[in-house]
Amino acid sequence: MLFTNNLLILEVSKVIARESAYEYDILRKDIFDILALLDNGVITSGKVVLIKPNLLRASPVEQAITTHPLIIRFVAEYVLEKGARPLVMDSPAIGKFSKIVKDTGLVDALKGLDITLEEFTASVRIDSHGSAKDVDDLQFKETELAQEALQADCIINLPKLKTHTQMGLTLAVKNLFGCVVGLRKPEWHLKIGENRDKFAELLISIYRRLRPTINILDGILALEGNGPGTGGIPRQLGVLIAANDAVDVDVAVCQMLDLHPEWLPTNRVAKRLGLIKDISIDGRIKKVKGFVLPNSTSLVFGPSFARKFIRQNLTSSPVSDKKLCKLCNECVNICPAKAITNNGKTLHFDYDKCIRCYCCSEVCPHSAIKVQRPLLRRFF
Ligand code: SF4
Ligand code: SF4
Repeated sequence: MLFTNNLLILEVSKVIARESAYEYDILRKDIFDILALLDNGVITSGKVVLIKPNLLRASPVEQAITTHPLIIRFVAEYVLEKGARPLVMDSPAIGKFSKIVKDTGLVDALKGLDITLEEFTASVRIDSHGSAKDVDDLQFKETELAQEALQADCIINLPKLKTHTQMGLTLAVKNLFGCVVGLRKPEWHLKIGENRDKFAELLISIYRRLRPTINILDGILALEGNGPGTGGIPRQLGVLIAANDAVDVDVAVCQMLDLHPEWLPTNRVAKRLGLIKDISIDGRIKKVKGFVLPNSTSLVFGPSFARKFIRQNLTSSPVSDKKLCKLCNECVNICPAKAITNNGKTLHFDYDKCIRCYCCSEVCPHSAIKVQRPLLRRFF
C-alpha cells in the first residue's frame, strides 16, 4: 500500500504459480509461458542477460541442492530466441566451478546452445543502494559485487526452494548473495557475526542494487530440514513460483509454506523499507503442510551481559558425527571464525568463537555436521 497526496493507492504485484515437473515438454512450456508473462519487452535483441541459478556445490539433481539444469536451459533458449546474449554465471560456495557444472548436469543440459557458462571472478566496489533514498538505517552502504551482475542489461534470477540453517530459507533474495565473489562471502559472515537481521540487511542491499528483472523459483523438488547443503532432505512440491520482484516470490513462498511472511528475516527488512506489496497469484498455490524447517533460532537476544550464557544454552550449535566425518577439512577451511580444528582423529568446535553461520554444515560433503539444539532449549 502507498499513500500519495492523501490518496491511498493499492499496489498489487503479480506472482505466477505453476504446478510443474522436470519433464522436458511440460517444463519447457511452463518456463516459456512464465517468461512471456514477465518479460514486459525487456529481453530484446542485443541485450546481455545474466542468468543466475543456485549452483551451491557439485551434487546430482536428486539432492535438490542446485537449480534444475533444464530450467536453466529453457531460460537460456528463451533469451536466445529473443536475440539477446545469455550469460549463465554464479560464484559457488564450495568446490570447483568446472566440476559443479558437470556434476549438476548443467554442461549436458546446455549442449548446443550459444551461451557463456562461467564463474564470477571479478568484483566491483559499489554503493549498495544505487539511487534508493530510504536506506539510512541500513548499514551496508558499500558492497563488492560481481562485475557481470552489475554490467548485465537484465538479470534472470533462478533460485531453488531450500531451507537455510542460518536464514531459515534461501529463496529469491538470498540467491543473489551468489553475486558476491568467492571468499568475500565468508568475510561477510565474519563481519556480520551472529546477527541474522544484519545479514538480512546485507541481502536486501544486494537485492536493491541488482534488482533482477525476472525471478523464477525452482520448487519442483525442494529441500527441507537442515539445508541448504547435504544436511537437507529433498521434498517434492511440484511448483514454480515467479515474479518480477524477488521479494514477491519470497512472500508467496512463505504463504505457501504456512509461514508468516515476516518469519523470514529478509522479508522483515523489506517490510521496514516498504518493499512488501500485496500480491495476487496467477495460478494456484497449494498450501504445503509440515514443511520441515532447520534446527536454528534467533541468536542475538537478551541483555548483553547474558549473551554468552544464552549462546551456549539456547542457540543451536554445529556438531560433527564421528561416524560420517572423513576429516576432509572442507568445514575447517570455510569456517569464517576459525572455530574448527582437526587434530587428525576428530574435529573440535570452539563455541565461544563460533558465530553460528552454519557454513560448515552447508559445505560438508558427507552430511557429517548436524545442527543440534541445546538441552535447555529442548526442555523449554
Ligand atoms: S566437511 Fe564434513 S567430512 Fe569434512 S571434516 Fe568437516 S565434518 Fe568432516
Ligand atoms: S563452526 Fe560452523 S557455524 Fe561456527 S562459525 Fe564456523 S562455520 Fe560458522
